[in-house]
Amino acid sequence: MSGTEMGVETEAEVEKVERKHTAEIGEEDVGKKVKLYGWVHEVRDHGGLVFVILRDREGFIQVTLPKKKVDPESFKTAKKVHRESVVEVVGVVKAEPKAPGGYEIIPEKFVVLNEADAPLPLDVAEKVPAELDTRLDHRYLDLRKPKVQAIFRIRHCMLQSVRAFLCEEGFIEVNTPKIVSTATEGGTELFPISYFEKEAFLNQSPQLYKQVLMASGLERVFEIGPIFRAEEHNTVRHLNEAVSIDIEASFLDHKGVMDVLERLVKRVYEDVNEKCERYLEWLNLKLEVPETPFERISYDEALEIANRKGESIPWGEDISTPALKLIAEEMPEHYFIMDWPTKSKPFYAMPYEDRPEICKSFDLMKGALELASGAQRIHLHDLLVKRIEECGMNPESFGFYLEAFRYGMPPHAGWGLGADRLLMSMLGLKNIREGVLFPRDRNRLVP
Ligand code: ATP
Ligand code: MG
Repeated sequence: MSGTEMGVETEAEVEKVERKHTAEIGEEDVGKKVKLYGWVHEVRDHGGLVFVILRDREGFIQVTLPKKKVDPESFKTAKKVHRESVVEVVGVVKAEPKAPGGYEIIPEKFVVLNEADAPLPLDVAEKVPAELDTRLDHRYLDLRKPKVQAIFRIRHCMLQSVRAFLCEEGFIEVNTPKIVSTATEGGTELFPISYFEKEAFLNQSPQLYKQVLMASGLERVFEIGPIFRAEEHNTVRHLNEAVSIDIEASFLDHKGVMDVLERLVKRVYEDVNEKCERYLEWLNLKLEVPETPFERISYDEALEIANRKGESIPWGEDISTPALKLIAEEMPEHYFIMDWPTKSKPFYAMPYEDRPEICKSFDLMKGALELASGAQRIHLHDLLVKRIEECGMNPESFGFYLEAFRYGMPPHAGWGLGADRLLMSMLGLKNIREGVLFPRDRNRLVP
């Protein structure tokens, strides 16, 4: 198809009619002829009068076809059109207080560009509610619902905001390989793939590459990309393929990158509030921009809170979900848990010099949900080798990574922030899958 818009006329017949989206129709269009493309959301047939609700990505508009006023072909077409068919409508805009949005179109042309089969596998108008599984099976239809589309319009804005913010802060966007030969943090939770005659894996995190790039002198890098985790569990906050927003920065410690992280979260909320007012409205949501600085508690303090509320965690272990829920009762908003036991974090986290059993690490939480993990990293070659060995791994399998630490690796720190989790927490989604177009989980590989 050429760059011209879809239609059924030959070029010679094309009359210059401006193409509009439903939401663009306003007072200034009354009496004007416009062209709209969209889907048939609803048809109401009153015999000699047919109402078609046309839906496009920006909203709805009523197309009104009085038998006596529109051409017979258009009238006949509208009467028998199936819901969710793709249509082109050319007609004059009229103010109509009773129509949704306040305007209607009296078509001079109502053409079906592609008729939808009936019945639909999923009710887009949501008169019949559907389970999430059914919705995901027919995601393309599910996405036609304004509430669902709003989530992805906001996701788009969130990622734009993240990019803009990090670029302003001097970070350079990079892309690191997703097919790798080494595990990032040990051999578990990896998806093996066959790579010609070798075994390879889908990368669980860009961690090692981000760090190698610190040795390259780029100083500040970020990546927004997929991470793959072969975790068996099926929860509302885990996916087997997620999108991670990762940064690494030279000459900053853990506190430096925590500052970047909280500024970023605040900025995303501000940008979404400013740019996605309509979509928040579609979702019936009011976003409150979180106040910074976020509260910061230590791992030890987190354990005390949980303990006081009846959930005891042996020192050194990860904080369980029930314990996090108890802590979240006191801290429902954003907060950091800092200074984790060294043994509970990956080998590359920097231990405190004076207390090596804890490390310069942090998790960013929103209530009981972990949004991000980060740390100052070990930049000293020999200490890194020692930590790899202490974690029961073989330094030889980290060849390319370790070499970078021998020839001028600056001190550095970074974090990984789950994009899907950030969206989930911002919009209060009950299930992480709601904010992912085609989620991958234990049971879902299609579509
Ligand atoms: P969790 O403890 O919640 O399983 P994690 O500590 O294993 O997460 P990290 O390795 O710290 O995860 O990854 C950094 C961030 O990436 C997490 O804070 C989270 O936001 C996101 N993330 C990690 N694994 C997943 C996953 N399976 N699904 C969705 N997001 C994830
Ligand atoms: Mg983590």
